[in-house]
Amino acid sequence: MKWRGRQGSRNIEDRRRSGGVRAAGGIGGFGLLAVLAIGYFLGVDVTPFLNTGGSQITSGRSVELTPQDEQAAQFVSVTLADTETIWAEIFEQQLNATYRPATMVLFKGATQSPCGGANGASGPFYCPTDRKAYLDTDFFTTLSRRLGASGDFAAAYVVAHEIAHHVQNELGILAEANKARARMGQAESNRVSVMIELQADCFSGIWARYAQDRLGTLERGDLGEALNAARQIGDDTLQRNAGQRPNPHSFTHGTSAQRQNWFQRGFETADIQQCDTFGAASL
Ligand SMILES: [Zn+2]
Repeated sequence: MKWRGRQGSRNIEDRRRSGGVRAAGGIGGFGLLAVLAIGYFLGVDVTPFLNTGGSQITSGRSVELTPQDEQAAQFVSVTLADTETIWAEIFEQQLNATYRPATMVLFKGATQSPCGGANGASGPFYCPTDRKAYLDTDFFTTLSRRLGASGDFAAAYVVAHEIAHHVQNELGILAEANKARARMGQAESNRVSVMIELQADCFSGIWARYAQDRLGTLERGDLGEALNAARQIGDDTLQRNAGQRPNPHSFTHGTSAQRQNWFQRGFETADIQQCDTFGAASL
């Protein structure tokens, strides 16, 4: 993706230098539980991964920003600006509405949100309550080294996916879906979660298509990087890579194939109406 030297977004809230919220004695574990307990936490679910004990929980260490962190922040800022340009256009063209951008909170280590505490290990997420997306700039390293999704467009897909949740929030979809989930049993609630997530992937595909056609920022191999990322963070693949047998009832984000398919569908159609996972005969 062409991003270096390009204009970034003003809607970044950088909490990294303030050191975030670091309570003594393992905010990491507590924060993670808080996030998971909320239930409406919409992020890259790396839970199976964490349960293997293979991931580090950040706990009370001092926050030092590396050159990679700085680069990640600039990258996120430019990608966020691209989502703002593109969703403003889509809202106007396809919905006859005005897009109100989200705020992206950058943190390193741990931070708090109205949806619960978070740490880098819990992955990026969107909180509908304060209309902010949260991202630990270390996550991109996890994404490429541990989850096997390398390349800048894999990272862009993650940013676009979180912003897609904001789009769902703006459209009233999240509120409605989460209201329904509150009355459901776990398996049914998980199924609705999958619909929310696959729709966010479809919206991310639309975003990628507009980035290609309108902004001309896609480079050779970018689409493949996004599709590979979608595959690597599919529930079945995550569970399998954590040494578990995939359990469809526990899926909250969709399988690798579903995530790729819905992203592709968004990319190919560039039409928001084609992303109706709630009305689809099959996912
Ligand atoms: Zn999501």
